[in-house]
Amino acid sequence: MALSRKYGKSVGEIIKIKSDFFEKNEEMLQLSAHQADSLLIQPKRTKCKICHGAIGETAGQEVLYESQRMGYYQCPICGHINSAYEDNEDFASRVYIADDYLANYSEADRQKYEARRDTIYIPKARFLIDALEQDGIKKKDIKLLDDGAGSGYFVAALRQLGIENVDGIEISEPQVQFANTMNGEDILTQVDAPDIASIIETADVNVATFIGVLEHITNLDEILGSIKNNKKIRYIYFSVPMFSMSCIFEAAHQNCYNRHAGGTHTHLFTESSLAYMAKSIGFEEYATWKFGSDMMDLYRMVCVCLDQNGNSRLREYFGNKFLPMIDELQETVDRHEEASEIHMIIKRKA
Ligand SMILES: [Zn+2]
Repeated sequence: MALSRKYGKSVGEIIKIKSDFFEKNEEMLQLSAHQADSLLIQPKRTKCKICHGAIGETAGQEVLYESQRMGYYQCPICGHINSAYEDNEDFASRVYIADDYLANYSEADRQKYEARRDTIYIPKARFLIDALEQDGIKKKDIKLLDDGAGSGYFVAALRQLGIENVDGIEISEPQVQFANTMNGEDILTQVDAPDIASIIETADVNVATFIGVLEHITNLDEILGSIKNNKKIRYIYFSVPMFSMSCIFEAAHQNCYNRHAGGTHTHLFTESSLAYMAKSIGFEEYATWKFGSDMMDLYRMVCVCLDQNGNSRLREYFGNKFLPMIDELQETVDRHEEASEIHMIIKRKA
């Protein structure tokens, strides 16, 4: 199959799932401020996260923009967007705090789990399976390791679609327990962070997946190196946050929660930094699906600002007018390659 690019996805059901962002702006901003505090005490970044080129203040570079007290620099070599401070181990230990997971789960929890799996993760899984099939890899030939599997939604979705040879690894023990309970069998394995690179390097799999994971990895070089060295891995499927319209909307609305740049997202990808990363480990773009949340972010920010300005009554009017357009507007953003998120399958070069 030739390189393919697909754009757009309906946001309908996702608005319900992410309603916290609308109703809890102040709490989310506070959390984000705590995460920014944790990054601002780290050493200043001097090297690009992706290509290691000199960046930032010490390289005499001008900041590209600032948002929520954090400066962002664009790498002159690969185009990656790096925060001014390093996302090191100390930062990670401060911001990745284990969520509370209930000891007992109800049937309603299971239904919620399955709804999230079906709404958000089945389409991601189907995209991968279809792309591999077009490259001659049948379902039964897929051997897959999902790194940073979280609550197991993606692994569960793959299994739902008939992929049998799939494992997921995750650092958080409560999340692994939650995933295994929700699925009624052990679909994930708990692993410790220092072991992950060697697990990837020796895994007997042809596909490695990182859904919303690469941007959080402090030792990204080591993880990428382990993929490069494991020649059995032919495809990598990842989703990452992009430097995009959402970043601009956030920079313009400093009283609204910054979902995208900031928090645990300390650097953002661009088309050129993704190409650089793929090339550095001997891979190239194979199939891409772009759908962002930029228009949803804009919608949320306008709603929050209306509330803040005493214009809450306009929210409903705005929603009735804007939401019917939102998929079309976002698809335009996606087609212009400005989406906040990218799903990409890269393939090892022959
Ligand atoms: Zn760079």
